[in-house]
Amino acid sequence: MKTEAEHFVIPFFKVKEFAQKGERHMALDSVALIALNNFRQRFGKPVRITRAYSTPEHNLKVGGVSNSLHLRGAAFDLDLGEGDIGRKTVMLRQSGFNEVMFYPKTGHYHAGLENGR
Ligand SMILES: [Zn+2]
Repeated sequence: MKTEAEHFVIPFFKVKEFAQKGERHMALDSVALIALNNFRQRFGKPVRITRAYSTPEHNLKVGGVSNSLHLRGAAFDLDLGEGDIGRKTVMLRQSGFNEVMFYPKTGHYHAGLENGR
């Protein structure tokens, strides 16, 4: 098995998809990126990231919790289109995420990875 550092983590995703709009700098959690890559391969369809890294200021503005995984680039909000919510939730967990939520209001999935959990 490859170590974390040996994985290609962004074959499907451009750097700009992870950045907060107008922000040049960001944090990204390498293990969360591997989970996202795993998920994209299983899912087999385009995945649109609606939120990845957030600055503390932006996080506050959108009502995120103060210890949000988005602050560390360890969570991604995803638009996965229509379809079976349960199946997608399970697939996100099987891909390595351990903080998975579906937001019915926006139709987005929150997929986070808290290391050491
Ligand atoms: Zn989120």
